[in-house]
Amino acid sequence: MRTVGFACTSAEDTLNPFHFDRRNPRPNDVVMEILYCGVCHSDLHWVRNDWGHTPYPAIPGHEIIGRVIETGPDVTRHKIGDIVAVGCMVDSCQNCDQCRKGEEQYCREGQKHPIGMNGVYGGIDVVDNTPNMGGYSKHLVVRQEFALKVPKGLDISKAAPLLCAGITTWSPLRTCQVGPGTRVAVIGLGGLGQMAVKLAVALGAEVTVISRSDKKQQDALAIGADKLLASSNDKAMQAAVNSFDLIIDTIPVEHDITPYLPLLDVDGTFSMVGQIGPLPTTTTLPLVYGRRRITGSLVGGIRETQELLNFCARKNILPDTKTVAMQDINDVFKELEKGDTHYRFVIDMSTLKAD
Ligand code: NDP
Ligand code: ZN
Repeated sequence: MRTVGFACTSAEDTLNPFHFDRRNPRPNDVVMEILYCGVCHSDLHWVRNDWGHTPYPAIPGHEIIGRVIETGPDVTRHKIGDIVAVGCMVDSCQNCDQCRKGEEQYCREGQKHPIGMNGVYGGIDVVDNTPNMGGYSKHLVVRQEFALKVPKGLDISKAAPLLCAGITTWSPLRTCQVGPGTRVAVIGLGGLGQMAVKLAVALGAEVTVISRSDKKQQDALAIGADKLLASSNDKAMQAAVNSFDLIIDTIPVEHDITPYLPLLDVDGTFSMVGQIGPLPTTTTLPLVYGRRRITGSLVGGIRETQELLNFCARKNILPDTKTVAMQDINDVFKELEKGDTHYRFVIDMSTLKAD
């Protein structure tokens, strides 16, 4: 089917209107009219080719909310008119041990690709071998298993970031069994960071934001954090040694994690979800002297994402967002690059005209 999106044609290009074909729906597919799409820092990495494997033209967008407008004959989970959501994944083998556990992001087949899953962008359609195109577009065609149900009561104009920023922080919080009394620190108060704070607070944790300066202090407190620690303040960093059970690091660029590791208590976990790629040399000293762990985490599985959507609907948790028009995306990217905003930009897709 013919549709339109915003694409760039090289790492130096801006995003511009782009007409292209989505596949005709297969028996197991739903066709969505996209209503909202969040703007993740990964979208910026992708268009700028920061990960070195972007095929152009490239359409980013992996925090997608839309309405079902067509269903294939085998579709049983969704019907026309349903509000559904799609995150970073659109396919997996559905057969390996990871898929069966509901951890499709670690699909064994998917790991043949560089990023370990069949992405809404970055992935390649297994049937026709064409590159997948993301959610900055009018329509999406997706197999029914990867369309999540958006619970009634969740404000759909704000919920899109739950599909990446939300699940990417929910997954390590759940893996580390965060609950009442867990001491959690979140490095970087951006799109992911604010969700990490809100979700950790909702799980009952004591939450500290670690930010480059104290400029975001009010923002941090307003979303429920107990305090903000400025990483530029050596004295405060020194005073915080041994004080966290879990640190979630969302910094999007190459950075030195050495100053943060001693902030973990014995047996604490440092979960890296931000920078995907090389890090400067660090030392094992804080790991050895304190049995501290460094882990990574990639989004979350479909089952866990549905759990998150239901949890947020029940607890009325939504990201802080700023709604923008599709044609303003190039200015939005400039803002995102500065790293000054603690909220998520969400594109209102009704602003993307079909012609
Ligand atoms: P944002 O730009 O919204 O937020 C990042 C925050 O990091 C900023 O607000 C800022 O917080 C801090 N920061 C920015 N630049 C620097 C810098 N040069 N040095 C130190 N801190 C900095 O990004 P997102 O939250 O959307 O994404 C964060 C990262 O997570 C990206 O790299 C993205 O690709 C990755 N990601 C990973 C996923 C996964 O599955 N693992 C899934 C989704 C995203 P402050 O001002 O408080 O210091
Ligand atoms: Zn993302």
